[in-house]
Amino acid sequence: MTNYQGSCLCGQISYNITGDTLSFYHCHCRRCRKMTGTGHASNLRVDTDTIVWLTGAELVKSYRLPEASRFRNDFCSACGTPLPKYFSEVGFVIIPAGTLDSEPEMQPQARIFCGSRSSWSCNDSLPTFDTYPAG
Ligand SMILES: [Zn+2]
Ligand SMILES: [Zn+2]
Repeated sequence: MTNYQGSCLCGQISYNITGDTLSFYHCHCRRCRKMTGTGHASNLRVDTDTIVWLTGAELVKSYRLPEASRFRNDFCSACGTPLPKYFSEVGFVIIPAGTLDSEPEMQPQARIFCGSRSSWSCNDSLPTFDTYPAG
């Protein structure tokens, strides 16, 4: 069992989630790219049906993609940050790892949906910088 705590960018929403971590994947699918505005989503899957909203529950909004069986974006209506979401059909919670304020118990295990990965997304041979590159 791990306890996960996190919050959105504006800080009005915070949450607490407790459960067993099932997986931690970078998902490169088109839907995740659109939802995050980045090359991939980084999602923890946790075996629980409970998200405790510590603050800001009234700001949580949900968008369900009509053509998908269960693709949904729950987000902060003030700042747009994607939030944890519970899928009752399958009985787990997905946590967008970037919203965590605590360390996850595992590191990412894999990249998934690489068949639809963008050519520019996460080329692991790139140089790295702790902050902005110099100059
Ligand atoms: Zn917010
Ligand atoms: Zn995805």
